[in-house]
Amino acid sequence: MGETPYFVELERALDICKKTTIHTVTERVNIDESHGRILAVDLPSKVNDPPFDNSAMDGFAMRYEDTLETPSTLQIIGTIQASGQEDNIVIEKGQAVRIMTGAPIPKGADSILQVELTSVDGDKVTLSQPSMKHFIRKKGENLSEGETALSTGTHLTPSRVGLCATMGYSSVPVIKKLKVAIISTGDELKQPGEELERGEIYESNSFGISGLVKWLGHEPVRMHSVGDTIDDLRKTLNHASIHTDLIITSGGVSMGDWDLVRKIMEEEGDLHFWRVKLRPGSPPLFGLWNNTPIFGLPGNPVSSHVVFRMLVAPWIRHTTHANGPIEPRSFATLATNVKPTKDCLTLRRVSIQMDDSGLSAHQKIHQGSGNLASMALSEGMVVLQPGREYSIGDTVEVMFL
Ligand code: AMP
Ligand code: MG
Repeated sequence: MGETPYFVELERALDICKKTTIHTVTERVNIDESHGRILAVDLPSKVNDPPFDNSAMDGFAMRYEDTLETPSTLQIIGTIQASGQEDNIVIEKGQAVRIMTGAPIPKGADSILQVELTSVDGDKVTLSQPSMKHFIRKKGENLSEGETALSTGTHLTPSRVGLCATMGYSSVPVIKKLKVAIISTGDELKQPGEELERGEIYESNSFGISGLVKWLGHEPVRMHSVGDTIDDLRKTLNHASIHTDLIITSGGVSMGDWDLVRKIMEEEGDLHFWRVKLRPGSPPLFGLWNNTPIFGLPGNPVSSHVVFRMLVAPWIRHTTHANGPIEPRSFATLATNVKPTKDCLTLRRVSIQMDDSGLSAHQKIHQGSGNLASMALSEGMVVLQPGREYSIGDTVEVMFL
């Protein structure tokens, strides 16, 4: 192994990865195409939100002081719909105008009463209670023109894409998607849909990893899976390093004779670390292949998923200038026993339940690292610190799946 850091703590592994960066490019995309992408600039609002004072209710607009003695009866002088047309309407003493949600408030009016609290007889409206000033949504109360609502590095969720439109943007600058090569390795792997021979299993990692890459706003390039031969692996890595920004392999990073990803990286690559104090998922490696960053993830499906979330995702977000972690984390009370390990950060798959006393974490399913069902059917993973004891009733950190 020479000088290569071996079996490092997760934080150290991440620090080592962060010394390698990928040059990112900014591109402008239509907001329809911006879902899940990373905003590349601070985005100031082009308008006030709302752009004008408007009604929060379907009802009537009037002068508050005309409604203090209940019931009060006012004269209806017109109707204002959401699109406006109020310019020629001025509310005088004793008058009201029929108004729709979102419609501009006419001059003279300073309050609203919702239609449910009124009764209409011809051109008269009777109010069962005083009108309400807070049913007027004030110009700029959500955002004022020029205010930066979304900052550079923001992950564009659906409501944030909506906010881009609210602020007047039809397109936004985002980080260009990284092309991420995904290469599974193993002689035993068959594509789903094919017939399995004895000793073979269906290849699943590339599909899960591909989803994780998309979740971060990037472009997975699933390559054909490679058998356990050094020549095939070298050829595929060379091809990937020419055509993509990042390579993720799965399988072949443990101690076995057929763990060829580790072997080829040791002998022909530039290996920055191998093995991390993380369970499941201790075998990963990181380095460069022909100057392209490469993560070698473990073959066990749960391990490859865990390593992606704990190591690959934080690094990709760092190198693409994305803000903070992408997944929600919280705390839950342990409802069952969970097993930590002595020297590794340990994640156990749990189902999360919510009741009056908050969130509780239940480990129901066996925790084998080959048991992808256990991950797919769990809502979260509890994060257990190395060397600590945990008992039922303890508060633990949870990462949602
Ligand atoms: P390895 O790290 O190559 O020794 O693989 C560890 C375990 O994960 C073995 O049981 C493999 O069969 C399994 N495995 C490796 N790659 C995949 C894959 N792409 N999809 C599903 N299982 C895999
Ligand atoms: Mg293998």
